[in-house]
Amino acid sequence: MNEGRPYIFDLDPAQLTALLSAWGMPAYRASQLLEWVYRHHVAEPARMTSFSHADRELLARQLVFTRAAVVRHQLATDGVQKLLLKWDAGEADHAVEGSSAALPVVEDSSRQSECVMIPSTDPRSTRRTACVSSQIGCPVGCRFCASGLGGLDGNLTSGQIVEQVWRLGGLPGVGRISHVVFMGMGEPLANFEQVVRAVRTLTAPWGCGISARHITISTVGLPAQIRRLAEVDLPITLAISLHAPNDELRRRLIPWAQFVSIQQLIDAGRHYFDRTGREVTLEYTLLRGVNDQPEHARELAGLAQQLRSHVNLIRYNEVKGLPYSRPDTADVRRFQAILRAAGVNTHIRASRGRDIAAACGQLRHEHAELAREAAQRP
Ligand code: SF4
Repeated sequence: MNEGRPYIFDLDPAQLTALLSAWGMPAYRASQLLEWVYRHHVAEPARMTSFSHADRELLARQLVFTRAAVVRHQLATDGVQKLLLKWDAGEADHAVEGSSAALPVVEDSSRQSECVMIPSTDPRSTRRTACVSSQIGCPVGCRFCASGLGGLDGNLTSGQIVEQVWRLGGLPGVGRISHVVFMGMGEPLANFEQVVRAVRTLTAPWGCGISARHITISTVGLPAQIRRLAEVDLPITLAISLHAPNDELRRRLIPWAQFVSIQQLIDAGRHYFDRTGREVTLEYTLLRGVNDQPEHARELAGLAQQLRSHVNLIRYNEVKGLPYSRPDTADVRRFQAILRAAGVNTHIRASRGRDIAAACGQLRHEHAELAREAAQRP
């Protein structure tokens, strides 16, 4: 348990140096400790052999090294791996290998978040993308998303975000994570300071050493926070999740959209490009018969033409209990063709890890359902 002790993944070198010096250790010990954690992937003080036995015991007493317990670990046939993590649940891990493994039953499905490791489809590539959560649950409540079903259960700290990347890098056969996308549970810009702090650790040479250009923050849209992000000195990619080409439909799909218009988002995206010179991604999840028709594509093209952007089309992954379905391939192709004919740079994102419910919040949702069913059994 945390018990108010400092958590290694929350700390930067200056903070760690101050702590170690208060405990009687020289400054160089801070960089040694960070090397053990980030370079050698060791988070048990007992294995940190460059420290004396007494110092290892002191570190174990004074610091928290990991806060997550693995509730479930899934491996998809295409190499995608997914972790369901429970925060501050104690020391024991309950890792379960393979997609066919039975679910362990937990009494309490709160304080859980998900993260996913997506390898490149090219076996020669070393690209490994971590998809991380920024919150537990999500306050936005998109009607088609499992994460929004239970509302918000709290923010994750920067360290908890970094621990997700660290854990994914430590999975069998993974190694160094090269890319990070904030597309898991939560609205990253609603947890702005912790997310920016996490990005600093992820990109720091003493931390994960990931290029900021390989980090994407995806937001459903808080225009003021987008403008704030434009002032932060980090060349990350901004993705705005539109999911609908007009306010009327968007407000039906995304409850939060009643507070903000698409035009406000487009204006904020244009400001982001003007300040950073970085093209904005517009994310659009295609829902069959809801937002995937030619008239929707034409409206979306009109929006995309207003700023330097490219459009990512995402085919919806069905969520048990929700009334939305995956679009027909022919409709997806037609949608893309209309955008391209209008001069909009458009990609269809590959669906990965479908056999392990890799859509955001799906595993936590299914796990909670199973735990509930188990709890009701006589
Ligand atoms: S799609 Fe993203 S913003 Fe919407 S409820 Fe799910 S996690 Fe939240």
